[in-house]
Amino acid sequence: MTKIKAYAADNKDANLKPFEIERRETLKDDVKIDIMYCGVCHSDLHQVQNDWKNSVYPVVPGHEIIGKVLEVGDGVTKFKVGDLVGVGCLVDSCKSCSACEDNLEQFCENGATWTYNSKDKHLGGHTFGGYSESVTVNKEFVLKVPENLDAKAAAPLLCAGITTYSPLAYWGVKKGDKVGVIGLGGLGHMGIKFAHAMGANTVMITTSPSKSEDAKKLGADAVLISKDEAQMKEHANSFDFLLNTIPVGHDMNPYAALLKRDATMVIVGAVEPLDPLHGGSLIMGRKSIAGSLIGGLKETQEMLDFCGEHNVVSDIEMIDIQNINEAYDRLQKSDVKYRFVIDMKSLKNN
Ligand SMILES: [Zn+2]
Ligand SMILES: [Zn+2]
Repeated sequence: MTKIKAYAADNKDANLKPFEIERRETLKDDVKIDIMYCGVCHSDLHQVQNDWKNSVYPVVPGHEIIGKVLEVGDGVTKFKVGDLVGVGCLVDSCKSCSACEDNLEQFCENGATWTYNSKDKHLGGHTFGGYSESVTVNKEFVLKVPENLDAKAAAPLLCAGITTYSPLAYWGVKKGDKVGVIGLGGLGHMGIKFAHAMGANTVMITTSPSKSEDAKKLGADAVLISKDEAQMKEHANSFDFLLNTIPVGHDMNPYAALLKRDATMVIVGAVEPLDPLHGGSLIMGRKSIAGSLIGGLKETQEMLDFCGEHNVVSDIEMIDIQNINEAYDRLQKSDVKYRFVIDMKSLKNN
C-alpha cells in the first residue's frame, strides 16, 4: 500500500481539508494513474453534505479524473506508462450480471463500485475519489483520452459529458432533429455541445434570457425562454427530443407540451421528487418521460472518441485544491461557467 495526499470532508458540515489515504499496490490487471486534473461535479457536493443519506466519512470526492499512466500490472496490454487516461464514476462492477454483459456497468445488478464512497473490495473501508495524487484502477474501468483534446477541459467529460452524451446517443438523436436542452449548467452546456456536434437543430430552453448569448456561443441555434408563454406555445409539439438537466424537482408539464408525438424527454439532473405530472401531458401524443444515468464503459469510450473527432471539451474554470471550499460555495449558487477543474499540481506541490 502507498500513502498519498488527498482532500477530504470529515462530516457533513465540514470543509474539505488535507487528508492522507492509502492506495493498493498495482495488481496484475491494474493501472496506476498520476492524477493531473479532477473536475468538480455537483454529486461531489451532495456526497460531502450527505444529501443522499448514504455518505461515509471521510469523503474524498472526485470522479472526473484525467491523468497519466504511472505503472501497469503484468496483465495490462492496452495501456502503457505515459498514456493520457481518464476515470469516471465507476471503478469496478461484477462483470457477469445482465447489465454488465450489456456494457451497462452503471446498472450492475450486484452493485457497481463507484469511484468514491463505495465499498472498497481490495482494502476494505470505502473508495476514495480523484481529489488525490493518484488512483489505482482495474484496466476495464480506465479510458483512453484522445491526445488532441485539452486534457484539463476533458476532465468533465468523464461525468457531465457521458451523462449528456448517453441519452442523446441511446435515443438516436441525428442530423436535423430538433433537440431541446433544458437548463444551462455543467450538464446543460455539454448537452448543447453534443447535440450541436451531432448535427441537431439545438434549442437552449432556459428561464433566464441573460443566458441566450452564452447558449449560442456554445452551439445553440435558438433559445427558448420557458417563462414566456407565447414562445412556449409557438414551440408546442415540435421537439424530437428533450434533454432535461434541471438539477432539482420541478414542474415537467410545460416541457412535456413541447414534445412531438412519440417523442421523449429524458431527465438526467434531478435526483429527487418531481412535481405532479398530468397524465394528459403524456397521453395526448403518446409521449414518454425517461431517466438516464451516466453510461457504461464502452459508451464512455465512444463518447471520448466522439469528442476527439469533433473537438468537444468542457468550458472550465481552473482552481487549486486549496480553493475547493470556495468553489463549492460558488457551485451552490451556480456561479461557474461551466465546470470547476482542480489542478492537482496544487495538491502535490504543497
Ligand atoms: Zn458527477
Ligand atoms: Zn454486474
